[in-house]
Amino acid sequence: MNRWVLLAFLGCTAGTQEVTLPATVETDPVPHEGDAADDPAVWVHPKDPARSTIIGTDKRGGLAVYGMDGKELQYLKIGRLNNADVRYGFPLGGATVDIVAASEVDKDALFVFRIDPESGKLSSVTPRPVKLGISVYGCCLYRSAKSGKFYFIGTSYRGPAEQWELFDDGAGNVDARRVRRIEIASSTEGCVADDELGHLYIGEEREGIWKYGAEPDAGEARVRVDTCGRGGHIVPDVEGLAICHGAGGKGYLLASSQGDDSFVIYRREGANEYLGTFKVGKGTLDGVSDCDGIEVTNSPLGPGFPSGVFVAQDGSNDRGNQNFKLVPWPSVAGAFKLEVGPGWNPRAVR
Ligand code: CA
Ligand code: CA
Ligand code: CA
Ligand code: CA
Repeated sequence: MNRWVLLAFLGCTAGTQEVTLPATVETDPVPHEGDAADDPAVWVHPKDPARSTIIGTDKRGGLAVYGMDGKELQYLKIGRLNNADVRYGFPLGGATVDIVAASEVDKDALFVFRIDPESGKLSSVTPRPVKLGISVYGCCLYRSAKSGKFYFIGTSYRGPAEQWELFDDGAGNVDARRVRRIEIASSTEGCVADDELGHLYIGEEREGIWKYGAEPDAGEARVRVDTCGRGGHIVPDVEGLAICHGAGGKGYLLASSQGDDSFVIYRREGANEYLGTFKVGKGTLDGVSDCDGIEVTNSPLGPGFPSGVFVAQDGSNDRGNQNFKLVPWPSVAGAFKLEVGPGWNPRAVR
């Protein structure tokens, strides 16, 4: 390499302070080959943090539940579930239950499962296939602090998103009614709602991240959080979105920047200021590439993850089919001087 090429090379690398963090645990691979794993969620156990679980979609056939050691506890063969999300304290049959909701791309339907607090296993509570009005792709849940109501938000291959209210059907199951449609011009997948602050973030895959109001009457008003390419911090597609809840409405919004195998951190509050970018690199486990969905929490999750976890789908797993990689949240927080905690108690949010 000649002198000028060398100088240009040094100039480029000097500006990119790349933070690479290793995963400490990985889940068992999903049963299906190819691009199959997609979106993880974390369920925090009500009493024993070590019995919390990772719930991950296998978009070629079902949904898996893993212990915090990554071992598979359950696999439900129930269709091509693409994204999944968790909420706590859903009123059902006179009690409250924790739920997982997922988007199914063949039937364009939403599914809801209840979580057995003893075993961490899931059972379906949507006997009626709830077919959405969009070619559904991603999804997330929202619990309104204003009304206490629970909502499913579905995104779509064509762009538009729909919000559905979830309710007890009176027979021990969950039914849903559509309460909102949001017009978006191109493919949307990743989304996440901030229950405390009332925001709904939607990733328009090749365009960027949008912030909407999460209430069903919030309309089409939106603010751009970041852009794919063109001076933004994301290399398309923008994929998974996740929120780390700090105290007092503070915390962090994280996004998967699939095109450069990286993860972007923003402030949760205010105007979602950009804070940094990191990758999950090779350590004792292989690194994460071509990531789809992510999840993050600072809730204590037992000895391996006493201050929470960042979970990322890995598009190419060295030891088999695709899986999910787990990074202790303090590794991420420490690298960017972020607040690690206090640990969030999702059940205290009312
Ligand atoms: Ca993929
Ligand atoms: Ca996608
Ligand atoms: Ca995806
Ligand atoms: Ca990998």
